[in-house]
Amino acid sequence: MPTTLLHSIQRLYTCDDNETILDDAWILVEGNVIKALGQGPVDPAMRADKMLDLTGAIVTPGLINIHHHFFQSITKALPFVQKSFVLDWLLKLYPLWVEIGPDEMVAATQVAAAELLLSGGTTSVDHSYMVPGADFDILRAQVETCRDIGLRLHLVVGSMPTLEGNLEEQLKPVIGDKIHRLIDPVERVYETMRRSARAFHDASAGSMTKVAFGPVGVTYTLPDMMRDISALAADYGCGLHTHLHPRPDEREKASTHLRSDPVAYLKASKWMKPGTWFAHCSQLTDDEMKVFADNGVGIAHCAHTIARLGFPLTRISAMRRYGVAVGIGVDGCASNDSGSILHDLRLALILHRIGTPLGTDTQEAWLSPYDALLMATRDGARIIGRNDIGRISVGCAADIAAFRLDRVGYAGSWGDPLSALLLAGCDPYAHLTMVNGAVVVWNGRLVNADETAIISKASQATRRIIDRAS
Ligand SMILES: [Zn+2]
Repeated sequence: MPTTLLHSIQRLYTCDDNETILDDAWILVEGNVIKALGQGPVDPAMRADKMLDLTGAIVTPGLINIHHHFFQSITKALPFVQKSFVLDWLLKLYPLWVEIGPDEMVAATQVAAAELLLSGGTTSVDHSYMVPGADFDILRAQVETCRDIGLRLHLVVGSMPTLEGNLEEQLKPVIGDKIHRLIDPVERVYETMRRSARAFHDASAGSMTKVAFGPVGVTYTLPDMMRDISALAADYGCGLHTHLHPRPDEREKASTHLRSDPVAYLKASKWMKPGTWFAHCSQLTDDEMKVFADNGVGIAHCAHTIARLGFPLTRISAMRRYGVAVGIGVDGCASNDSGSILHDLRLALILHRIGTPLGTDTQEAWLSPYDALLMATRDGARIIGRNDIGRISVGCAADIAAFRLDRVGYAGSWGDPLSALLLAGCDPYAHLTMVNGAVVVWNGRLVNADETAIISKASQATRRIIDRAS
């Protein structure tokens, strides 16, 4: 099997259970697996097919993004949704998204994957709830595009069995019969989930493609659906994922339709278990956080979306104090406008501090740069049900990121290179990104794809859906 030696690493953050950090370190990769690692000069007898000199770089496990919507990567920074709360934002964007077909999904997935890889991301969840007309080729396009560019994918096969609030009534006059391409009949949702699991889900160690299930949000008005999806996920060994805050209107729906509250309903529907994770959770009560912790349920914190859409500040310190596993998500590029995981990691590190000590948080409970790194590596891996990634340990898949700190933005920092990367830096690029033993980014550039072609294809796709919607 081919071997690669990463050597002369300034500082290596392994994120293993012993919190091992090594200076002047090296890592030997054989095939797709980490074979050995150590400290100090490399034994001259140790040769590899490929030698990568990482002088002046810090190295971390590849970053893991646990919430995204790839399709949104061709609808960034649109002028008419720059000042919208979530329901107004959705109302204005659905007429564009309903026009997405397989070609647009290839373009969007290339952008999403490229941004993640270039910022040190090696694994991503894609919560793919927008599959107009239940076109299976849209899902296939995502999987094949990720495979070609070299990104490890957790595809959450989603659906929109209902729309949020009264969006259905508001959208009908705007998009007419196309509403049927947006809203999925329940049986069709289940069939798409079964078909996707059979086609794409690989449960083996080092798997490059796994499947999870999850509608766009909790289906309070279709009370059996959450339980049915949980049962389907159990049948195929897949995880569960969706959005949850819960906002006041979610609590009211749960009360009106179910005579329950959102978290109790999810528990009754067999969603509160390891392998389930929710995006946001910006409005959980303390008691609900304890239920998450007791049941091993994870949370994807998407700092840019929280700020961009004006959600309440997520109480990260409280969640961690109760023992809830929290990871990092970039979320879709219509509520972030960037798909860089490094960008979101930097914001997550400081966003939750706003307002302290007005809440229950204290400065002692704030995240440290190392805490934030763990959220994007070891904790993220655990949340999505993996123990073969998220750390640099012998036997783990070789998912590795390296960042050089010889840019002027880092000048003047001292004492801890990780703090420099996450607090001082504005450079968005990884020097190296390795996924499953393959170098996919080197010297801040994609290895398997032409960035100019990706930009051109995305621009054309954006133009097409705007023209069709017009
Ligand atoms: Zn989302």
